[in-house]
Amino acid sequence: MDINEPSRRRTLRQLIGLTALGAVNMLRAPRALAAGKIARATAIPGVGGKVISRQDADYEVWRQAMVWHQSKPKRYPQLIVQARSEQDVIAAVKYAAANQLKVSVRSGGHNANGSALRDGALLIDVSAMNDIVIDAARQIASIQPGVRSLEMIQAAREQGFSFPVPHCSSVGLSGFTLGGGMGWNWPQCGGMATHSIVGAEVVTADGRLLRATPSENPDLYWAVRGVGPGFFGVVTRLFLQLYPAPRSIMASSYIFPLAELATVTSTLDAIRQTHDVARVEPIIVLMHHPEAPADAPPEKSKIVFFTAFAFEDNEQAARAALLPFAQSALASKAAMKMEYQPFAFEGLYDRYFSLNDPAGRCARYAVDNVLTDAGGKTLQALADHFRTAPGKDCHILAAFNLRLQRHEDSCFSWVADCFVGCYAIWDAEADDSRNFAWLRQTLPLMDPLAVGHYVNEIEGRGHPERYQQCFSAANWQRLQSLRQQYDPSGVFHHYLGHS
Ligand SMILES: Cc1cc2nc3c(=O)[nH]c(=O)nc-3n(C[C@H](O)[C@H](O)[C@H](O)COP(=O)(O)OP(=O)(O)OC[C@H]3O[C@@H](n4cnc5c(N)ncnc54)[C@H](O)[C@@H]3O)c2cc1C
Repeated sequence: MDINEPSRRRTLRQLIGLTALGAVNMLRAPRALAAGKIARATAIPGVGGKVISRQDADYEVWRQAMVWHQSKPKRYPQLIVQARSEQDVIAAVKYAAANQLKVSVRSGGHNANGSALRDGALLIDVSAMNDIVIDAARQIASIQPGVRSLEMIQAAREQGFSFPVPHCSSVGLSGFTLGGGMGWNWPQCGGMATHSIVGAEVVTADGRLLRATPSENPDLYWAVRGVGPGFFGVVTRLFLQLYPAPRSIMASSYIFPLAELATVTSTLDAIRQTHDVARVEPIIVLMHHPEAPADAPPEKSKIVFFTAFAFEDNEQAARAALLPFAQSALASKAAMKMEYQPFAFEGLYDRYFSLNDPAGRCARYAVDNVLTDAGGKTLQALADHFRTAPGKDCHILAAFNLRLQRHEDSCFSWVADCFVGCYAIWDAEADDSRNFAWLRQTLPLMDPLAVGHYVNEIEGRGHPERYQQCFSAANWQRLQSLRQQYDPSGVFHHYLGHS
């Protein structure tokens, strides 16, 4: 295989598909299903939205639609409530408390562990609550919890604003921001999106609707900002800080054989030492070349795909931001390059994290990660193991310039420069154990270089300790105390594997 061959568009699309596999049809299913006319025996007083019980004929379709990927957990909620309003959420929580059902929550359904699916639960699906109001004067968006990435960016942009939305158009904003949120243009939009939550409305275990802001219930506000898929409440509205919309978006990509990884990481290090590229979003992906046969030997199929994204006010500034990359060994030594490509936001989704590709076939999926100050070294530590990846869709992604900072009013615990995520993606159930084992074997390689872990992208199935490792000891302890305070009788499910 010649990695110079001009398969640019497919390469990019495939790259994107890797992290977006399988999403859209199942994700949209709840909204479509809700329009159906199946007679239902179950009703919950005060709930206007659909209630689906295990006895209903379409229960399994609903259950499966709660998780976007194909490795659907074999966990079975007792009831699924598709909430239409805060009142629905309050009524559902009260009903669960009175009937000894534990509550789980589902928004965009993208969590890799399918955290919303719990045995015997009352699952509150908030995906149909998707209203967005932009307060242009205050530069704040007020959104309901079912809003997704694309809906958010379109609404913000109409008023000249931006938000660090997820890289894939269908990811839910509430699961994303509650856990952290590395969104498009994070370097210029406050780092992790959770730090752009300026307020929230939360239904607590006793059925109250509380405001959480720096001055109202500040401990709840602290928890909302970073807690991830183990919150002891339902967020029914988020107030998000907006940022100026960039008028010019550009990307430059450079492709190398995997054997040249050191060239890529050392060049990136050098560029960052000698130039101010802190505003740029640099991403390195170790991946299987999409044109190479699945069984091609690693030296002929595994590549390093580097992209720098610039989000600036005008084309000249965007070009200037990408110039250090074009003048470096990335450009002079790359096997293939695509420089200064202009994009609109929809184009970024379509080219880099598209759901319109064959890759949208709904694969099986697992991920784990480190947050680190040694991104290059972490990739080097993983490179040999990557050569043994069990399938061609497995990949490793590193995102730099994270600008993580410690905030007293946020339980997000880490200060780090880089996220490195290892993604196992495959099709056949028979390959489950091979893929989970491969992913698990990345931990001893990358964990020694970790500052911490990102709670939205860990493999928690069978590994409950992984959730705890996503928080500093003090923050984990405080989260447990707050859980005890706000949910003393355990109405809400804990992190997967915790009780
Ligand atoms: C294709 C794809 C692309 C991704 N891209 C990015 C990316 O660019 N950057 C990034 O940082 N992450 C990304 N992720 C990871 C993503 O942030 C997490 O998977 C996140 O959990 C998804 O949120 P969701 O609402 O879609 O998921 P869900 O599965 O609906 O929610 C996950 C859990 O969050 C909690 N939760 C959600 N909403 C609420 C609420 N309203 N109240 C209380 N608890 C709630 C619940 O515990 C719920 O079970 C991506 C994931 C996928 C699959």
